[in-house]
Amino acid sequence: MSESYDVIVIGSGAGGGTLVRHLAPSGKRILLLERGDWLPREPQNWDVHDVFVDNRYISPDTWYDAETSKAFQPQVHYFVGGATKLYGAALYRLREKDFGELQHHDGVSPAWPIGYTDMEPYYTLAEELYQVHGARGEDPTEPPSSAPYPFPAVSHEPRIQQLSDDLAAAGLHPFHAPCGVMLNEGNMPYSNCVRCPTCDGFPCLVHAKSDAEVLGVRPALEHPNVTLLTNARALALRTDPSGAAVTAVEVERDGEHETYAADIVVVSCGAANSAKLLLASANDKHPNGLSNGSDQLGRNYTFHNSQAVLALSKEENPTVFQKTLGVNDFYFGSDDFEFPLGNIQMVGKSSADMYRGEKPLETKLAPQRTLDSMARHAVDFWLSTEDLPRPENRVTLDRDGNVRISYTATNGESVKQLYHKLKGLLKDTGMHSDHLVPRHAYLKTAIPVAGVAHQAGTCRFGSDPGTSVLNVDCRAHELDNLYVVDTSFFPSIGAVNPALTAMANALRVGDHLLERMGANGASR
Ligand SMILES: Cc1cc2nc3c(=O)[nH]c(=O)nc-3n(C[C@H](O)[C@H](O)[C@H](O)COP(=O)(O)OP(=O)(O)OC[C@H]3O[C@@H](n4cnc5c(N)ncnc54)[C@H](O)[C@@H]3O)c2cc1C
Ligand code: SF4
Repeated sequence: MSESYDVIVIGSGAGGGTLVRHLAPSGKRILLLERGDWLPREPQNWDVHDVFVDNRYISPDTWYDAETSKAFQPQVHYFVGGATKLYGAALYRLREKDFGELQHHDGVSPAWPIGYTDMEPYYTLAEELYQVHGARGEDPTEPPSSAPYPFPAVSHEPRIQQLSDDLAAAGLHPFHAPCGVMLNEGNMPYSNCVRCPTCDGFPCLVHAKSDAEVLGVRPALEHPNVTLLTNARALALRTDPSGAAVTAVEVERDGEHETYAADIVVVSCGAANSAKLLLASANDKHPNGLSNGSDQLGRNYTFHNSQAVLALSKEENPTVFQKTLGVNDFYFGSDDFEFPLGNIQMVGKSSADMYRGEKPLETKLAPQRTLDSMARHAVDFWLSTEDLPRPENRVTLDRDGNVRISYTATNGESVKQLYHKLKGLLKDTGMHSDHLVPRHAYLKTAIPVAGVAHQAGTCRFGSDPGTSVLNVDCRAHELDNLYVVDTSFFPSIGAVNPALTAMANALRVGDHLLERMGANGASR
């Protein structure tokens, strides 16, 4: 057995990276285990072909579709900082009503065991930590907040400002999207962010994106009590004979088998991999996986009903940084549809190279100048509709320990309605009204189940141990020293991007852990 620690955190993404930063000043001995390496800083970070066509930063892994038994490569990113290394850094709070029970077209989105007011201080803290740029008061569904955004909104470029004006003239309430980029528009010579076209879905070469490596792990490592081991994959957790506490973490590091121990173990491997780790840790006292007396472990897997589409603008769209606008007017429904539809936002500006290989565009056969013209006129949107947590939508392991995903989509009618809402707005916004083209390259896959960017919900938290895996502090109901802080804990996912909620919750759980350890520094 190697050294013993106060806390081991497994996984360094939005949940784990944020937690470690929060715990670091306490002086407690903290070990961060990350299966990936540092994401290399190299010219390819910003190369469209390397990133979007060759998928350079999608990590090798194979999961299986449980329905068809077909293998697929999930869109996962095993690096220090996890998926946030590639994310679009749209850092939204869930809406206040997302914390309550909400009737959808296909059923009920369940209530969370805590309310928005419990999370609000931690959203504020997370927005500070991740340097979110935004403007309060524009988004009609925005929840109440105790502080302004720490930085002003990222400005729209002219074509997006025009779109915003056109949407407003059509009676909507477009708003400046909350962005985690370290942009100083008032003093560009001193701005870390250079406002480049390769942000959403790319790593940031100049470390100006508010990701969990740059703003979570690196600042944590400035504290001598924090140790990071890269290429260290947790294989299983071992418990004491009673099954009431985790006593060891089995790790494969650079091909060697190692064991680590700590008073507290926090799992934050991403929703599917956290479920995998707990399922793979089954023993006599926990025959179906750790803390799975409720049979809920791995269930209620959600990942958003996402649609990436491009509209063709009549005028050219020379926008460089496009992800500055959002529309939530249909979030909870519309005049002609009483159920929630979801969120509309921009994605990174597309380019001709990205279209290569996208079947719906038949681009393999299209001449370069057609693609160039399409890219010059493209205005790119991302639509998210909530998918409901179904117990049958789940992560299980096959006999060899591989991840199997069972997933049947919900709210298909709402997805369709949201798409038609956007299509109906094209003629009012200077677009060709008959064109809305699906973007499979942005989704990285034509197989929906492989699009795991927004995965959540496999270890949901709740006050009833019979229907949840974690308690309200995100501690496993059945083990005293085991916590989970990635998006696994979500009982429902809402329709806005999930990372800020994972970060805020990690800070909330962090305060609980500081208190439990008798350490100073609890922030609220
Ligand atoms: C292309 C893309 C764009 C996105 N855009 C946005 C956006 O604009 N806004 C937003 O809110 N969200 C966005 N997301 C989603 C967001 O990045 C995730 O919701 C968030 O990172 C999830 O945090 P997490 O802590 O659950 O998991 P992750 O951030 O994925 O972290 C999990 C970590 O655990 C490590 N790990 C896994 N298994 C093990 C193991 N066995 N042992 C040790 N380590 C392990 C992984 O390598 C990884 O570092 C995007 C995601 C992608 C891929
Ligand atoms: S837009 Fe800014 S934060 Fe994003 S990749 Fe470019 S420099 Fe980095």
